[in-house]
Amino acid sequence: MYDVVIIGSGVIGMSIARTLSDKDSLSIAVIDRDVPGLHASYKAGGMLGAQNEFVQDTALYQLALRSRDYFKSLSQDLYKETNINIDYQEHGLIKMAASEDDIECLKAQYHFLNQRDRSVTTLSENSLKDLCNDSIDFNHHAIYIPNDGQINASKYTKALLKSINNKGIDRLYHTEVKSLKRLKDCYKVQTSHSILLAKKVVVAGGAWSNDLLENYQIEPKVTGVKGVVLLLEHEHLNLKQTLFMTNGCYIVPKRGNRFLVGATSYVDDYSVGTSTEGEQWLFNKAAAYIPLLNSSNIIHKWSGIRPYTDHEWPIMDEIDNGLFLVTGHYRNGILLSPIIGKLMAEWIVNDQPPSLIKDFKAKRSVHL
Ligand SMILES: Cc1cc2nc3c(=O)[nH]c(=O)nc-3n(C[C@H](O)[C@H](O)[C@H](O)COP(=O)(O)OP(=O)(O)OC[C@H]3O[C@@H](n4cnc5c(N)ncnc54)[C@H](O)[C@@H]3O)c2cc1C
Repeated sequence: MYDVVIIGSGVIGMSIARTLSDKDSLSIAVIDRDVPGLHASYKAGGMLGAQNEFVQDTALYQLALRSRDYFKSLSQDLYKETNINIDYQEHGLIKMAASEDDIECLKAQYHFLNQRDRSVTTLSENSLKDLCNDSIDFNHHAIYIPNDGQINASKYTKALLKSINNKGIDRLYHTEVKSLKRLKDCYKVQTSHSILLAKKVVVAGGAWSNDLLENYQIEPKVTGVKGVVLLLEHEHLNLKQTLFMTNGCYIVPKRGNRFLVGATSYVDDYSVGTSTEGEQWLFNKAAAYIPLLNSSNIIHKWSGIRPYTDHEWPIMDEIDNGLFLVTGHYRNGILLSPIIGKLMAEWIVNDQPPSLIKDFKAKRSVHL
């Protein structure tokens, strides 16, 4: 019997597993069906947009700020453990109003952020051009958030995977969990290959988390929101800051003069692969802001599925004795993963929810 079985080896499941293994000599298994294209975690832009994403001082905003602060040391620890560099960068993020209609909202966000952090500033047209080495063509309202960094999400996910392997956690590949059943003092986890018993189970199945918990009728429901991403390359483009437009398009500079351009949003779409329409929207929007991108090469394109809940409020809860649901991190799962790993591991070991994570409860209509 395992002490803890974690279903889902995205950044959420693996961050919990990694911290748990540091805490105690627990026997832990992480299970994933590993279908190509189904891990959102490998597909993400890698933005650590703790301030970019929020306009109110909520429990989620506080988690995001704390989690962002972990990344510098986490990137060093992961490099020591795995030899994988997750390309942590601290060049900041520029948020830009995509239309006249968005200017007031961006000003309100600036006001909120600047009251709490004076390093957040508005940018004049000239200071924006200077910051972006003259690469940008933009004259609406823009603000600069210097502390929102970024990483390479694919390398981060690979580093977590290598780290949990190094730590002796059992990793069951190409294994689908078919059902979960509560027995007297443990859970029966029926997989495509075998039956496992576990004292505690964590469902971290991203956008598919509901499927295993139908008996509990959990609210809010988790829905998949598909995003398409392009990776462009331009040898002469000198842009360091992430650009984030209020229409949802963003440009994240990566190593080797590559620029990740994201992302479309298709609600309740679980398909894998890109569409010409999505690719064109991204390319045209990005090139409208950064004209040099018109002559860039498309190196790669892909899609991923974000776990979304109403009001974009994640679920982190013990929904039955020893059964935890941790999902719904939508556009911020990479950013939030270190703190969630830490807090959920504390909860699982101590049988007490840490106060920082108590506001993310699910409702269940059926008590088994
Ligand atoms: C295009 C895109 C851009 C993004 N950009 C950012 C960003 O810049 N910054 C940021 O912070 N976040 C970003 N995100 C969001 C982030 O990627 C997600 O919030 C995060 O990866 C979710 O992690 P997860 O572990 O919950 O889910 P996933 O990574 O989806 O992992 C869930 C896993 O569970 C497995 N699974 C599900 N059901 C079963 C089952 N029954 N049996 C076995 N295995 C199962 C799946 O195979 C999957 O591997 C982005 C997402 C996308 C798609």
